[in-house]
Amino acid sequence: MNPAQVAKDKEGTGQTETQVRTIPVARGDGIGPEIMDACLHILMEAGARIEPVFVEIGEKVYQQGHSAGITPETWEILRKYKIFYKAPITTPQGGGYKSLNVTVRKAFGLFANVRPAVSYAPVIPTKYPGMDVVVIRENEEDLYAGIEYQLTPEVVESLKILTRPGCERIVRFAFEYARAYGRKKVTCMTKDNILKLTDGLFHKVFDEIAKEYPDIEAEHWIVDIGTAKLADTPEQFDVVVMPNLYGDIASDMLAQIAGSVGLAPGANIGEEYAMFEAIHGSAPRHAGQNKANPSGLLLAGVMMLVHIGQGDVAERVHNAWLKTLEDKIWTYDLVRKAKAAGITGYREVGTREFAEAVVERLGEEPTHLKPVHYAGKAMPLKFPTTDVRSRRMDLDGVDVFIREGTKTAEELGRLLEGLAGPEFQLVMISNRGQKVYPDAMPGAYCSDSWRCRFKVAGDDNAKITPAAVRALLERIEGAGLEWAKLEKLYLLEGERAYSLGQGE
Ligand code: NAD
Repeated sequence: MNPAQVAKDKEGTGQTETQVRTIPVARGDGIGPEIMDACLHILMEAGARIEPVFVEIGEKVYQQGHSAGITPETWEILRKYKIFYKAPITTPQGGGYKSLNVTVRKAFGLFANVRPAVSYAPVIPTKYPGMDVVVIRENEEDLYAGIEYQLTPEVVESLKILTRPGCERIVRFAFEYARAYGRKKVTCMTKDNILKLTDGLFHKVFDEIAKEYPDIEAEHWIVDIGTAKLADTPEQFDVVVMPNLYGDIASDMLAQIAGSVGLAPGANIGEEYAMFEAIHGSAPRHAGQNKANPSGLLLAGVMMLVHIGQGDVAERVHNAWLKTLEDKIWTYDLVRKAKAAGITGYREVGTREFAEAVVERLGEEPTHLKPVHYAGKAMPLKFPTTDVRSRRMDLDGVDVFIREGTKTAEELGRLLEGLAGPEFQLVMISNRGQKVYPDAMPGAYCSDSWRCRFKVAGDDNAKITPAAVRALLERIEGAGLEWAKLEKLYLLEGERAYSLGQGE
């Protein structure tokens, strides 16, 4: 069908972007080229108003010496067209290579990772009929900031970075997504019973923003039991919003239990840029055999079309795809599941034949599975964030991390008490987060990194000046101790804004 024709047919629905969009497309490695060709065939036959421009990324580009698997020319094209439809790539083994996905996410501010996990009962065998969850994972912050240090010979650390604007943006995105897609509930999962400041901020922001969406139910689960519930009764969840690491783990888990990894799409969305891909890799063992399931990448293409205002085409593609599944026209991965479940009556097809079957069903809707409708799914992507930069921060003390491998907590504590004055007093030492001085818990293992907390002697915090802190460090050095790092303890608008040592 002629793309312009489709646009005209849908005029007046309020959802149609009629302009042809240029879309950078990477065919990727392994099974990438064959599944991408199949997907583009379907999208174009469905009348997608897109014009692919092919870009090189992946294995060959890594081997040419580009450490993130992407060339300057590709960067330029992505910067220009802002949307990226990407097949999986092979990341070479060994050091020196950077993840292309992480690099692109960071460069283009793709703060939201959207991963629908849907089961297709009764068509595809699943233990979880009724599962229709969308995980919205924060995509830029958390431990993925990748800030890691060797603190002492025994101790390594990784910094978990969350920002208030980052939390606000992803939480608002989750609620807006729920509203646009007619979802009823947003669940937040954190570990804020332990990570009171970082996950605590995420949860607090969630509670604040939830109040602005009274039409949507909001709930919070601690991530451990929450993930267990997700794995056990996913049908009880709707939209789930999570900090980066938990979202990464939960979304892979859900894709796995939903059916086949070959079915799951993912979108990385930012204010201006977006990248759409299947969640699986390049499955090199299956490459070039016309075997792989193109569904994950196709559904990513559907998400892309909705994103660029071509919900009409997205709907045609998605419904034809559902009808194909329903007609039991399956690639090997689904056939394998069916065989294991004792299901018969399917037709096993290759990648190309599957795509052809979807094309033949364009314009049809499934009868057993629920058809999709993408009218009015546009949602805002630019969100206001609270400006907290001028909030008052007062110094309440310092934590000095000391490398010391021979002394006991008691010996170190007595030594530091003598070095603290006149401005400071030593209030506690903790090791691996556990208070060990004064009054150590018997049996706690002590590493060679000690967090030594100094607060002001007396109650006048104004005495904690930069010069006083430097003098303290000099006294510590002068006593032959090595300080590995220093963290300032702040009060934010008068509230303690640092963690206590366990047992403190
Ligand atoms: P993989 O997802 O490529 O494959 C694991 C298995 O899943 C395959 O052996 C196959 O049995 C099955 N599978 C995956 N996709 C399928 C499909 N479309 N149809 C049918 N079955 C499918 O994971 P892997 O083997 O761990 O990784 C292979 C390569 O892919 C690695 O180089 C890895 O770094 C890369 N990778 C890339 C991405 C990406 O580009 N976004 C994501 C994950 C892995």
